[in-house]
Amino acid sequence: MQDITGLIHHPYVPPEGFEAPQPGVFKASTVFFPNVAAMRAREWKDKSAYTYGLHGTPTTYVLEERLCALEGGQQCLLVPSGLAAIALVSLSLLKAGDEVLIPDNAYAPNKSLAAAELAQWGIGHRFYNPMDAADLAEKISPATQLVWLEVPGSVTLEFPDLPALAGLCRDKGVTTALDNTWGAGLAFKPFACGVDISIHALTKYPSGGGDVLMGSVVTTDEALHLRLKLTHMRLGLGVGANDVEAVLRALPSIALRYRAQDQACRLLAAWLQTQPEVAQVLHPAVPGSPGHENWQRLCAPGHAESSESATEVVALEGGSPKVSQAGLAASLLSIVFKPEFASAQVDAFCDALQLFRIGYSWAGPISLVVPYELSALRSMPSPGVAQGGLVRLAIGLEAVQDLQADVAQALKAMRA
Ligand SMILES: *Cc1c(COP(=O)(O)O)cnc(C)c1O
Repeated sequence: MQDITGLIHHPYVPPEGFEAPQPGVFKASTVFFPNVAAMRAREWKDKSAYTYGLHGTPTTYVLEERLCALEGGQQCLLVPSGLAAIALVSLSLLKAGDEVLIPDNAYAPNKSLAAAELAQWGIGHRFYNPMDAADLAEKISPATQLVWLEVPGSVTLEFPDLPALAGLCRDKGVTTALDNTWGAGLAFKPFACGVDISIHALTKYPSGGGDVLMGSVVTTDEALHLRLKLTHMRLGLGVGANDVEAVLRALPSIALRYRAQDQACRLLAAWLQTQPEVAQVLHPAVPGSPGHENWQRLCAPGHAESSESATEVVALEGGSPKVSQAGLAASLLSIVFKPEFASAQVDAFCDALQLFRIGYSWAGPISLVVPYELSALRSMPSPGVAQGGLVRLAIGLEAVQDLQADVAQALKAMRA
């Protein structure tokens, strides 16, 4: 045997039994079979074996199982982004003549997918007001094969009555899929609310680094999972082992990061309410933010009067106690500025921020800001949301006093 062949077909096999804090990273397109009979017999759908890298490796199986534990589900599929998770669900469950219902305040690319891609395949869509269960009930028709749910809404963070919406779909026999990126499996348990599918942009908290794109589709019903898995296989969706490794490495600290970022965000939410430029702070733990009571019921049960417990934390200088300290919430808030601030001044506020960087996504180490034009995002009015320029802040892992000082200087720059 020549040297080059010997390097490729080397006989050494390391001893078994290696154990260390992080699971091994297995990479493969090809997976070997011991013989043809094994190749023909091998089952790839139930994680009992391996057939091809796209259909699973020890590394992807481990992440899938851990995500099932996080979300309280039974089966999990990994896809290359959160948006791919949304697309997989809609493409798998909908066919020509069907209709999908999407919250009007949903993550905007979910709406674009329906309007620009699903429509090409003869699949209809309608938007509903997630704060009005009667609106959803009225829009469900015999053609409705899928209802998307999102908690809270994108940008404006209205918190719907998730168990009620999921329950009414269940009563009508319609499959529900929840975009659970905000709750991350930590703020509440999605399947206890009666949803059928929970998708998660692992890009956010599970990665925590702002450096990985990945999504998951978690279910509790084997038949539903198999239907999604077959579409997943036919579409050729897969994820890279290095990205899976990055998520596996970040997952043990997800609850600590979620809580720390949540606390910093609520301190800023309380302080921002006292600032004269601010008309409204949108955050589900802020009393008066749309759906605050729904958030309290789902994410802070037993704390109906929890705004009293604000004294448990050290408020930022000048902060008000008008934010509940109970339960859990993701570290996103939106500021609506008073109407006298023109959009150029709102842009100037964003530009003046130093620690907050201008960029999409959230739940990474660096705080982010994005200005939004609400009229371009919505087909319905947003009751309970003040009129005015709107920016969304995503709170990272910096010291909250430094973030407060940064926002304070940017508010000053906006007035100038
Ligand atoms: C970021 C996000 C997505 C999409 O995730 P990507 O990995 O960026 O494609 C979907 N839904 C919500 C609510 C998100 O915040």
